Amino acid sequence: MRIISALTALGLAVAAVAAPPPPVDEAIARRVRADVEFLASDRLEGRDTGSRGHAIAADYVAGQFRAIGLEPAGDKGSWYQQVPFRRASFDKPPRLTLTIGGKPVVLEQGKDASLRPSVTAKQIRRSAGLVFVGYGLKDTRFGFDDYRGLDVRGKIVVALDGTPTGLPSDIAAHLKSTKDEMAAAAGAVGFVGIGGRGGRAGEADPVQRASRPRIDWVDSAGRAGTTPPGLELIISFSREWAARLFEGAPKSLAAVRAAVKGKGRPRGFALTPTIAVEADAKWEDFTSPEVIGLLRGSDPVLAAEHVVLMGHLDHLGIKPNAKLGEDAIYNGALDNAAGVATMLEAARLFAAQPARPKRSILFIANTGEERGLLGASYYANHPTVTASSIVGLVDLDMPLLLYPFTDVTAFGADHSTIGATVAEAGSSMNVAMSPDPMPEEAIFVRSDHYMFVKRGIPAVLLMTGHANGGKAKWKDFLESTYHSVNDDLTQPIDWQAGGRYAVLNYRIARAMADAPQRPMWLTNDYFGDLYDVNGPRRPAGTPRRP
Ligand SMILES: [Zn+2]
Repeated sequence: MRIISALTALGLAVAAVAAPPPPVDEAIARRVRADVEFLASDRLEGRDTGSRGHAIAADYVAGQFRAIGLEPAGDKGSWYQQVPFRRASFDKPPRLTLTIGGKPVVLEQGKDASLRPSVTAKQIRRSAGLVFVGYGLKDTRFGFDDYRGLDVRGKIVVALDGTPTGLPSDIAAHLKSTKDEMAAAAGAVGFVGIGGRGGRAGEADPVQRASRPRIDWVDSAGRAGTTPPGLELIISFSREWAARLFEGAPKSLAAVRAAVKGKGRPRGFALTPTIAVEADAKWEDFTSPEVIGLLRGSDPVLAAEHVVLMGHLDHLGIKPNAKLGEDAIYNGALDNAAGVATMLEAARLFAAQPARPKRSILFIANTGEERGLLGASYYANHPTVTASSIVGLVDLDMPLLLYPFTDVTAFGADHSTIGATVAEAGSSMNVAMSPDPMPEEAIFVRSDHYMFVKRGIPAVLLMTGHANGGKAKWKDFLESTYHSVNDDLTQPIDWQAGGRYAVLNYRIARAMADAPQRPMWLTNDYFGDLYDVNGPRRPAGTPRRP
């Protein structure tokens, strides 16, 4: 799991405590344990994207896929899709010259402002004007068009962070994360986000952070994962310089901010400064694999459709600058050796059944999740099966196998019929489905499955729930263990819970694969209407089976 705040452990109400579910076959729990123990061992060195440890883990998963009887479904008949990654950095700081009130001022990279190293433009020699675009939002459903009447072609847009209040949290988070795409679509060449609230405690200064090396995928056509086409100049400014961008404008930044309270949406206007950039980035290219196994469906028609079960195999690697003797390995036992292990066991449970599922199932172990959902993003944009054949997806990320869970949450359950499928599969084994306990965190748009949502595919992220002691375990894990070296095998892992989670994953995928109808977005769903305009729909609340 990526970027979750420890603050959110203080969740809301949870489902009533159910009777503990019956135990699963000890052999199932044992196999989950064996996989977690291998994947989270020190010898895999934290499975960082592009590292040897991750490559060994990927080979292990491919070997398990082979043993289970899956077919390789990566590139060229292999188990792998090698994702072409690029790390961009600056050896020599770029030169940023702001002309303000007719006078050129050279800004200090990393202090006054930061140009983000680009994975698509190695050498930049460009100057551009600036246009303030309010929140920088364009959205038909909510009637936002902050670009109306503004010509931003060839310009750098300057947008306030955030959104107007009153939006559902996942939609607000989605809009925030796609502002750069909206700017590129309007013809801008650069993007400046103006922060207001500052980072969370413990986070680096955004200006410092922006100048760090960054990783993205870049495909053979030159398209990048997280840089919209043409948007070369992503710049952060310090508070002081952000305010000075508004010198000579119809309104100061302070006046703009004062007018933006609650639902207020400032109108944009052209700014008077211009900025000239001279930058030479350094690029290092490397690959890291997605691992993909296929269980072919049995139905002559439905087998052409694919249900995806996936989890990320990568984690954070080794702590830089660790002291001698200090534990420096981010083992990622629960994040996400546990998700991959339960996915593997779900695949074994499929293979053990006399009848294959009607639809085909793709099992994917993602890379690059901790670096920005990059492996899933690459796969979603370059699927190894026909894109339109992927009809639904369940993402397994960081199941907390530290207590006998009696409920699960499916983030995204409110958007598609997969929510009802998860609820049914859970009730068949006495596991309840609880609503999102932390809607303010907008988890739906913050893990790998979101990259498939953006390709129009109904998807959920599954997690163990807050009932039966889960709430306290989550709070404690997020505060003391999450993304630290403590997420290792010394935790008191409940292997029975691991086995039960694997069985649940199997039942969910089985139901999605065997149902008469494919998973569907609910009628009028925001994400369905945005990304899958012509796809089938199902009214909310209708039973899944006819
Ligand atoms: Zn993580």
